[in-house]
Amino acid sequence: MNKIIELRSDTFTMPSVQMKEYMFNAQVGDDVYGEDPSVNALEDKMAKLTNKEAALFTISGTQANLLAMLSHCQRGEEYICGQDSHIFKYEGGGSSVLGGISPQPIEFEKDGTLDLNKVHKKIKPDDFHFAMTKLLCLENTHDGKVLPLSYLQEARKFTQEKNLLLHLDGARVFNAVVDLGIDIKDISVCFDSMSICISKGLGAPVGSVLVGSKEFINKARRYRKMLGGGLRQSGYLAAACSYAIDNNMKDLERDHANAKKLALELSKIDEIRILSNDTNMVFIEVLDKKVDILINYLKNKGINISGTYEELRLVTHRDVSSEDIDYVIKTFKEFFKK
Ligand SMILES: *Cc1c(COP(=O)(O)O)cnc(C)c1O
Repeated sequence: MNKIIELRSDTFTMPSVQMKEYMFNAQVGDDVYGEDPSVNALEDKMAKLTNKEAALFTISGTQANLLAMLSHCQRGEEYICGQDSHIFKYEGGGSSVLGGISPQPIEFEKDGTLDLNKVHKKIKPDDFHFAMTKLLCLENTHDGKVLPLSYLQEARKFTQEKNLLLHLDGARVFNAVVDLGIDIKDISVCFDSMSICISKGLGAPVGSVLVGSKEFINKARRYRKMLGGGLRQSGYLAAACSYAIDNNMKDLERDHANAKKLALELSKIDEIRILSNDTNMVFIEVLDKKVDILINYLKNKGINISGTYEELRLVTHRDVSSEDIDYVIKTFKEFFKK
C-alpha cells in the first residue's frame, strides 16, 4: 500500500492535474489595485451564483468569517452562535481579540440548528449593563448536518423581526446544496452574508469567498487589507477556486454516497456504533474502546482517521474513491475479527 486513504478531513484534497493546468494558464494582475482578472472573475461568479451584490476572495474560511464579524459588529456588540461552532470555538476568538466583539454561545440542537426560542432568550435588552446583540451566526453544514430550508427561512424572519443580522458559516454549504438538490440562492437569500470554503470538498488548494451587500463587502475589503490579506497575483489561487466551482460540484454527490456506504457497512460491526452520518461525514463510537490500537492498525494499512475514544470522524472527499471505501470497510472488518 503506498497510497494513503485520508479520511481525517476533506481539507486534504489535492489539486488535480487539470486544476493545476488551469491555474498555470490563469491571467493575473495586482489584486490590491483591483486588477487581477482571475480574482475579479471568481468574485463576479460567486456574487452571481449566490445572487448577492458583491463577493470577496479570502485566504481561508477563518479570514472570511472574521471579516464578516468585523464588518457587521462594532466594539461592545455581541453575536449569538453555537457552542461548538467553528466561529466561536476554532478561530482563536479572533473577533473578540481583534474586534472587541463578545460571543454569546448556546448549545446546538441535535440537528445542527440553534433553537430560535433559546436564541430569543439570549437577546439582550437595550440597557447599558449589556453588550448590544447584533448578529446571529449559523453553520451549514454542521458536523455534516444539513440545516432544513424551512429552518433557514424561519431564522431569516426571526432575525428581521428582532432587528438582528444573520451570517452563515457556509464552509461546506455546497454539500448542503447537493444533498437537498436545491439552488444555492435558496440558501443565500436567507442571509445577510455567507462565507464559503473552496478548499474543502471542492478541492481547491487555498481559498474561501465571502458574499453580501456592496457596502458590507467594501468594509470587509478594508479589514482584509488591514489583516494582511491584500494579496497581489492571487489570481492563480482564485483560478483554482473558479475551476473547482465549475467542475467539482457534482462529485460531492459521490462523496455523500461513499459516506453512506461506509456508515452502513461499519454499522454491521458489533463493536461499532454509528453516532451520525450526514453528507460526507461519518461519526462513530468504538464500544470496546480499543481506539488507539484501531487508529494505529488503520494507519499501518494506509488509512488515516481522527478522533478520540468518545468519537471518531471519517470524512469522504474527491480523493477517496468507491474502491478505497471498500478497502476501508474490509480493513475495519479484519481488525474486529481478530
Ligand atoms: C473549515 C471550516 C471553516 C474555515 O476553515 P479554514 O481552515 O480557515 O478555511 C469554517 N467553518 C467551518 C464549519 C469549517 O469546517
